[in-house]
Amino acid sequence: MSRTSLAIAGAALVAAGLGAAAYAQQPTQPPFATARVEGTDNVYIFRAGNHQSMFVVTSAGVIATDPIGYGRPQMVTTYVDEIRKVTNKPIKYLIYSHHHFDHIAGGKPFKDAGATIIAHKRAKERLVALKDPHTVLPDETMDKSRTIRLGTTTLELTYVGLNHSDSSIVMRLPKDKILFAVDFIPVGTMPGRAMIDSYPIEWEDSLKKVLAMDWDTLIPGHPGAPGGRLGTKDDAQNVLTFLQDASAAVKAEAQAGGCWDRVEKEMKLPKYESWPGYEQGLPMVLRRYCGLWGRGT
Ligand SMILES: [Zn+2]
Repeated sequence: MSRTSLAIAGAALVAAGLGAAAYAQQPTQPPFATARVEGTDNVYIFRAGNHQSMFVVTSAGVIATDPIGYGRPQMVTTYVDEIRKVTNKPIKYLIYSHHHFDHIAGGKPFKDAGATIIAHKRAKERLVALKDPHTVLPDETMDKSRTIRLGTTTLELTYVGLNHSDSSIVMRLPKDKILFAVDFIPVGTMPGRAMIDSYPIEWEDSLKKVLAMDWDTLIPGHPGAPGGRLGTKDDAQNVLTFLQDASAAVKAEAQAGGCWDRVEKEMKLPKYESWPGYEQGLPMVLRRYCGLWGRGT
């Protein structure tokens, strides 16, 4: 079961001798890369910087996800060009994983290519209110679930409740047992900024729902650690355990009057100090749980 490594699809990248496993934390990594997920015929990952998206090529067209164009609009044209290197079929859909701009800004080249943009209904509500000039509004929305059928491909979109955001959907390819989920299941790394506007209690419930779904391979919205790897259910379970541990640790201190200062200045979570992102992420984790258990928010 080695879909945790990626098969590079782009001939130019192969010629350059770059293994996809050499992905993340490489100062010399190229600004973007396209790779076919090993063991699949038609599932691809487009990576730009430290963000990535899934796209699926079918006989009837392409289903793309997150344009990842925040602060780099030209990269979205590159994303479309990369799809064009794989297929000349029409790009039928662009699906937003959640409403955060670092994942969904910049979708205009997809809209211009004729894609129908789909997001959770709450994502659209936020985008309508915020009027971000760089983010294209969804054409269609979904609530609890929706199934996209294109060619012989089925893609299930499921809202698994509040977690890292209030508009996160997971995208599952039943045939390949692949799940694309963004930001609420970091692979091999500590959550950091992912905590800022999160719903920590409900996040645990949404992870339990995801763990009960039928999938083997997780494509995360940021390359996994180490080496840009993909995720498994073990990674999702690790995130759940981490949230439970962090929550319980802060809860005890918070209810003893320790929030904000004592917890933020003194608490450590040594079990997790080997996780990449621990040093930067810990203050945001502690602050979020102090908000919950020390303030009630
Ligand atoms: Zn996010």
